[in-house]
Amino acid sequence: MTDSDIYQSVFERNRQWVKERTEEDPAFFEKLAKEQHPDFLFIGCSDSRVPASAIMGVEPGAVFVHRNVANLVVNIDSNSLSAIHYAVDHLQVKHVVVCGHYGCGGIKAAMQPRDLGILNGWLREIRDVYRLHHDELDAIDDPDETLKRLTELNVREQCINVIKTAVVQRNYLDRKAPRVHGWVYDLSNGYLKDLNFPFDEMLEKVREIYRLTPDPRKDLDLSGKNPPLPAKKKKDD
Ligand SMILES: [Zn+2]
Repeated sequence: MTDSDIYQSVFERNRQWVKERTEEDPAFFEKLAKEQHPDFLFIGCSDSRVPASAIMGVEPGAVFVHRNVANLVVNIDSNSLSAIHYAVDHLQVKHVVVCGHYGCGGIKAAMQPRDLGILNGWLREIRDVYRLHHDELDAIDDPDETLKRLTELNVREQCINVIKTAVVQRNYLDRKAPRVHGWVYDLSNGYLKDLNFPFDEMLEKVREIYRLTPDPRKDLDLSGKNPPLPAKKKKDD
């Protein structure tokens, strides 16, 4: 097959797919074109072997997807933050999933002592995860197991980064959703593993420092209705 044949074959398969879908349900595309109500936001790796809808076994319209190298949620990355904002605030998804995968090239590359050009800054996020958990990771003898555990810990830290966003905190306080979950996909057998990310506990912990929405139980009343707190005594009083 030539490169041109490979390219053209996409459109042949697409026509076949449209035909099959329309035969199953003549209104399939008409319904999808009107609106979307996905229950999930899936934040996964760009790896070609981790297609969100396929591994979740869901149809078009069920999952809003954001993918990047090594499934990162970076504080100043307007791409992932925009996807989170749109999915949580406008589409009102019920669940946000960060899904890593064993055998991730991004995780492997981050652990190599090489200058990877523009990827250095992106993959440094993974080195930061390593730094946070180096005691646990350095205690593992098998290098493959170390990478597997780093993959899981990276998912956990990215889940925490999702919780640090104001849009997730505000929505959860308002409508008790979305909940944040961490998964790992195993390329070798196709199974998804739920890492049982402790969402309630982490939300509470994260909000001790990264609280971006007011909490009437904890935050100062700045409305002027209540008397101000007594001023602290100066040292020389
Ligand atoms: Zn990957």
